Amino acid sequence: MQRLPTIDEALALVLERVQPLASEQVALAQAAGRCLAEDAAALVDLPPFHSSAMDGYAVRAADTPGTLRVVAESAAGRPTETVLGAGEAIAISTGAVVPEGADAVIPVEHTDGGKETVVVERCERGANIRPRGGDTHAGDAVARAGQVLRPVHLGALASCGLTHVRCGRLPSVAVLATGTELRRPGEPLGPGQIYESNTVLLAAQLRLLGIETEVLEPARDDPAATREALERGLAADVLVTSGGVSVGEHDHVRGALADLGAEEVFWRVALRPGKPVAFSVRGSTLVFGLPGNPVSSLVGFELFVRPALRALQGAHAPEPELLPGILGAPLRRNPQRDELVRARLEDGVLRPVSGQESHMIARAAAANALVLVRNGDGELAQGSQVSWLAL
Ligand code: AMP
Ligand code: MG
Repeated sequence: MQRLPTIDEALALVLERVQPLASEQVALAQAAGRCLAEDAAALVDLPPFHSSAMDGYAVRAADTPGTLRVVAESAAGRPTETVLGAGEAIAISTGAVVPEGADAVIPVEHTDGGKETVVVERCERGANIRPRGGDTHAGDAVARAGQVLRPVHLGALASCGLTHVRCGRLPSVAVLATGTELRRPGEPLGPGQIYESNTVLLAAQLRLLGIETEVLEPARDDPAATREALERGLAADVLVTSGGVSVGEHDHVRGALADLGAEEVFWRVALRPGKPVAFSVRGSTLVFGLPGNPVSSLVGFELFVRPALRALQGAHAPEPELLPGILGAPLRRNPQRDELVRARLEDGVLRPVSGQESHMIARAAAANALVLVRNGDGELAQGSQVSWLAL
């Protein structure tokens, strides 16, 4: 029997086929979760001036300790023009400009708080002064191309004066469920029918990535109906289908994609759940044929679709973000396939949830982690080091 690609091999095959999308200007307020297309450099020094870290008095360290004349005030946003002379102090607030002539700020707590004259304790040169450019300098990169922007990046970029950043365009995504048995929630179930849930899960994942998804009308298990639905979906940058990629007589997705001129890059991965996952390309469209079992479809999204979406936007580290963890219960390894076990992170350890079959989406809803159990013989002992993905 032919050896199936491993998860990592399959992901490499996906990423090889990704052509990053064009970039566009994005307002900072819209840029959370977006991927920077070029380095974003500070427009100003940060802080933009020597600024006080404390409420107190700007002084010359050499004049301390002693009694000083208070000659002016420097408040935040209201700098003084007065140059500090010998034996003088200037009242100052946090974030205000340190006046010329001063080389230290003494916190009000280390003084008598006087208005005309002030008695100050000893202080060191440079004390409580945040030097201009101490955080970053104008022209320095604050975030790098390929970075997925988190709120802290946006705060940093705003502090440096940016209003917009250049980001990879968001891919357009179409989602298609296949299966004659599927009904939309809200309609009563007929004999043999089940509720269609995969597109709901997938569209929700995509929405959290800022991607508005076109959810196509589910296709019956019929070659012509499947082809027709796929053809519509192929207009998107990414088409994600669910169901119809196994070996059953009523699985038409792969055949229909071939009819439509898509090139199949791989079908089936040494993975559980989600082995029958298929990946094809047509033109610049990436097509992920996820298996219909809801947990398989979830796992396929995390392992292959999410990384591809990140790579399309130009992310430099598009791979799944595996975290180190400790297993809270023993787990039997699968001899052939890497397994993604639904688990809960509790008290610092990962406890597998009961009910690990690929149709058990309600059980999976109790999990917040996918533990990666590499294939092998025997058992992985409780307390073993494992990698896991946050759900
Ligand atoms: P398939 O991959 O088409 O063989 O489907 C595998 C299992 O997943 C079957 O039990 C299907 O009924 C179920 N299934 C397929 N598509 C969906 C869907 N969109 N929502 C929920 N269950 C599904
Ligand atoms: Mg089916």
